[in-house]
Amino acid sequence: LSPSTHSQLTPDQASALAIDIKRWAMELGLSACAITDTDLGDHETHFINWLNDGFHGEMDYMERHGTKRSRPDELEPGTLRIISARLDYFPPNATDAHAVLANNELGYVSRYALGRDYHKVLRRRLQKLADRITESSGEFAYRAFTDSAPVLEKAIAEKAGLGWIGKHSNLLSEKTGSWFFLGELYTDLPLPVDPPQPSAHCGSCTACITACPTDAIVAPYRVDARRCISYLTIELDGPIPLEFRKPMGNRIYGCDDCQLVCPFNKFASPTQLDDFHPRHNLDSTTLVELFAWSETEFNERMQGSPIRRIGYWNWLRNIAVALGNAPHTQQVTDALQQRANSNNSIVREHVGWALKQHRATTNNNER
Ligand code: SF4
Repeated sequence: LSPSTHSQLTPDQASALAIDIKRWAMELGLSACAITDTDLGDHETHFINWLNDGFHGEMDYMERHGTKRSRPDELEPGTLRIISARLDYFPPNATDAHAVLANNELGYVSRYALGRDYHKVLRRRLQKLADRITESSGEFAYRAFTDSAPVLEKAIAEKAGLGWIGKHSNLLSEKTGSWFFLGELYTDLPLPVDPPQPSAHCGSCTACITACPTDAIVAPYRVDARRCISYLTIELDGPIPLEFRKPMGNRIYGCDDCQLVCPFNKFASPTQLDDFHPRHNLDSTTLVELFAWSETEFNERMQGSPIRRIGYWNWLRNIAVALGNAPHTQQVTDALQQRANSNNSIVREHVGWALKQHRATTNNNER
């Protein structure tokens, strides 16, 4: 950050500005905002232990950035405060998540990815918030992040008081659950900090640990990303390990099971933004239809969606697995057969696996 003159703000001016920032954040459509400093304390140790256990899988960038993630002023020298913002995304009109998960002919897409790419939606709002601060108080030093750089965003939000990190390692709050995105403004403004969440409220609940289809929550607050369906369907490039293909069920992009069972999500606030409402019927499309999309169709329909970032071949890979878990119908096996000679070796292998599941079903039925 380039130093700004605002480091000269008096405590009264800084307090008044902090109140204004929170009001502007709400006016700009953010769901909440709070301020903290750059000392993330124990979160760094927790993060380093997680990396040392190899739980990040192939996400090498996590290691590469070292302590920049846990020490905000190493990433952006001069950072004094972090404005942490929450943006709710739960789409109230989407087809019920449990109903989609129970219907293996449909593809399940994580609730956060049914609509527009949150990076842009959230970043635009953070930028407007920064502009509003500039309009009112003159130029100041800042940088906006929306899951776009090494930022320990859940730790920051917890420290700012926006919630606590649950046993599933997502941030949640007793009033609003966990269906929200987080974004940050790193700044050198000497704003007063908000108190952290006084205590976590998971208590003796273990619903998310029990519900995880792949046992990825290996202990409370410890998620092995290598087992997590979100990682396997979004981050992993290459074959999905065999042991996870059946438990994936019909989940083709991400997984929400740990959030779906969380009792605090009964109180979740649905999104106020049309941006996060489902597009292209992604909340209720059959796997067979999705599998038939050409690369051009994928690129056109997924324009502006976070799904586009995984690319066409990983999209087909994921759907192939779900089709292997789908009911044994002619339509399903025909769809798989049509891609049995795909140009992409990963897709070919996953289609081969899926067809094998259906052959096994046929053999069992004939016995
Ligand atoms: S499901 Fe239970 S244990 Fe998991 S985050 Fe929610 S309250 Fe905590």
